[in-house]
Amino acid sequence: MRNVIILGSGCAGSTAAIYAARAGLNPLVVVGHEPGGQLFLTTEVENFPGFPEGIQGPDLVLNIQKQAERFGAEYLYGGVQEADLSKRPFRVSIDGNWQECRTLIIATGASARWLGLPNEQKLIGHGVSSCATCDGAFYRDQKVMVVGGGDSAMEEATFLTRFASEVTLVHRREEFRASKIMLDRARANPKIKFLLNATVDDVYDVSQNMVTGVKLRNLMTGETWDQEVAGFFLAIGHIPNTKPFVGQIDLDPDGYILSKGGARTKIPGVFHAGDVQDRIYRQAITAAGAGCMAAMEAEKFLEHEGH
Ligand code: NAP
Repeated sequence: MRNVIILGSGCAGSTAAIYAARAGLNPLVVVGHEPGGQLFLTTEVENFPGFPEGIQGPDLVLNIQKQAERFGAEYLYGGVQEADLSKRPFRVSIDGNWQECRTLIIATGASARWLGLPNEQKLIGHGVSSCATCDGAFYRDQKVMVVGGGDSAMEEATFLTRFASEVTLVHRREEFRASKIMLDRARANPKIKFLLNATVDDVYDVSQNMVTGVKLRNLMTGETWDQEVAGFFLAIGHIPNTKPFVGQIDLDPDGYILSKGGARTKIPGVFHAGDVQDRIYRQAITAAGAGCMAAMEAEKFLEHEGH
């Protein structure tokens, strides 16, 4: 029986682990299917306080983990598949092994959204990517495509022009969710071509195990055509990782945890931290702050319960 299990090893989960471990709660951190969370897919983080020269995303999150381990936090590789929050102790299944805890901190984050194209998943890592900062450098002097109309799409398209000879930005309508400054920056970049009112029907070529092109469709006319690209980047938002908790805690229509104030969910003893609840700020520093809050609330809860 654990005092606290923390689900997720991103900035939120590992900061919760520092606080919980330092409070002597001997937390178990379940690393999750994306160890280190989204920071692990980033390059330079320039806005995390305390690093005047910036820090690489993976270094930042691994440092936080090391700091938590220094105080005795234990990290377990695996992901949560099921949870039973109907009674205490809470139970979570980590790749088939059930673990029990008095308090649970859900810091499972959010994962990139995919289009669901027939060949998309088969070509992930072979030209299909959700992370321009991770994979952009592979496309020096090649043509690439970015899908999306939000800030992420503008940021990724602009970033990719450092390497690619041409970036086609495909968006399904004419209006953008992106902020004006980021849209203007992308529009002013001569390497970025905008393709609006269009969608991608599929990506080629599985038989060669690499991306060679995509099938496009004009959403106004229905016309379809093929375009050659070497890299295909998705920037169409994220999905919160809350599947094991559906029907147990309150979620909003998109699946983000609905907070009951502070780090509380509707179940006493179950807390949230980071992007799994936050659809607005989504920053490393806000996730870290949320992890701190969740651990302090778990500690207070355990103390109140006499543990
Ligand atoms: P977002 O704002 O939700 O935009 C997602 C985009 O993907 C939308 O344009 C949407 O189209 C499109 N999309 C979604 N599903 C699609 C589908 N199935 N097919 C085609 N297109 C699809 O997500 P985001 O860009 O990741 O940004 C999320 C948050 O992070 C925002 O608050 C943003 O400001 C913030 N952010 C900030 C920065 C920065 O300031 N540096 C950088 C990145 C992100 P529709 O518009 O038609 O729905």
